[in-house]
Amino acid sequence: KLSAENLNISFGSKHVLKNINVSFAENEITALIGPSGCGKSTLLRSFNRMHDLSPDAKIDGKLRLENLDLYAKGVPVTEIRKRIGMVFQKANPFPKSIYDNIAYGLKINNLPHDKKVIEKALREAFLWEEVKNDLKMPATRLSGGQQQRLCIARAVALRPEVILMDEPCSALDPVSTLKIEELITHLKTNYTIVIVTHNMQQAQRIADKTVFMYLGEVKEEGPTKQIFGNPHNEVTANYINGQF
Ligand code: ATP
Ligand code: MG
Repeated sequence: KLSAENLNISFGSKHVLKNINVSFAENEITALIGPSGCGKSTLLRSFNRMHDLSPDAKIDGKLRLENLDLYAKGVPVTEIRKRIGMVFQKANPFPKSIYDNIAYGLKINNLPHDKKVIEKALREAFLWEEVKNDLKMPATRLSGGQQQRLCIARAVALRPEVILMDEPCSALDPVSTLKIEELITHLKTNYTIVIVTHNMQQAQRIADKTVFMYLGEVKEEGPTKQIFGNPHNEVTANYINGQF
């Protein structure tokens, strides 16, 4: 289980996340929704220690994966990023072959990276059949949807416990989007999945739970059916009804 307790994040004088308490369960898909600028990406990135590079970031609170305190002294960021994978809005394959895109992270983590392992990851990301004859091709020649599935393959190849996805479909066409939704739904039997999305239909199609954020706070969370069918908070209701 992945969790944040009393999490506050500021950049300089800008208080971006305000006392966030949230947890994400295994074998569930949680959708993180809320208006632009409410702090969804900032929250997601904090689990992966991606603010380490921002000199003005101040992070307060406890972030945990199981018993591991993600910000404890001496915890290697590489271990965190192996256990918590991340997929971004814009597919970002390395400028390498399809094969090497997956092999690279495995090598860095001293994991086996023979063809069997590569094949398994590509199969798990519903990409194998499309690329099995082109493994040496530069990944940048793939379509946008394929590149995003490659990035998912790259994440799952490391056998993480959690996969964080920040608007993974927002640059894709409807067909590629549905394919990735199907893939994400399939992955949830093995991983804890958190997906940031602005697509309310998408959240309802795939998420077990939904967390609504507003101005740096978690305003409401609950089963997706409840959040969309019977929101308890007026701001949630206004947001999902498209009023802002
Ligand atoms: P969107 O839906 O548009 O992606 P979001 O909910 O993901 O929005 P964030 O990207 O988390 O929003 O940004 C929340 C706030 O934090 C914004 O005001 C943003 O400018 C600010 N912010 C994020 N990262 C930094 C940083 N490194 N330095 C300064 N401010 C930052
Ligand atoms: Mg964002």
